[in-house]
Amino acid sequence: MRCIPRQTQTNIMDLSKFQCRRCGTCCKWEGAVRVSYEEIVKIAEFLHIDIQEFINRHTVLTPDRRSLSLMEKKDGSCVYYDGERKACIIHPVKPHQCVSFPFEWNFPGWDDLCEGGKALRGK
Ligand code: SF4
Repeated sequence: MRCIPRQTQTNIMDLSKFQCRRCGTCCKWEGAVRVSYEEIVKIAEFLHIDIQEFINRHTVLTPDRRSLSLMEKKDGSCVYYDGERKACIIHPVKPHQCVSFPFEWNFPGWDDLCEGGKALRGK
């Protein structure tokens, strides 16, 4: 599994009108999706999985060893991204990191891939 810290790109784009188009770009971008203990509890309850079992089987230690991250698929996408339905299967309880894209984190070139970012740029 690749586990590369997600990057934050400083830019001057006005994101106040950003609207998610559910393209899944952020979910398919490889890198850690950090989860707090409180988020783990909510996700485990949502999935009807024991908390310790969820931690053992569905999370991995981040490279800096400071937190846990959701597992990734082989292609680097989040294990909870359903590519066929283009949806997050834990959407009601998805972590803050997911909710905060692209406002608190994004990556170089994100607005060339993300449909919401492209729309902002009039593409
Ligand atoms: S938890 Fe959901 S929203 Fe967050 S990266 Fe995974 S699939 Fe995407």
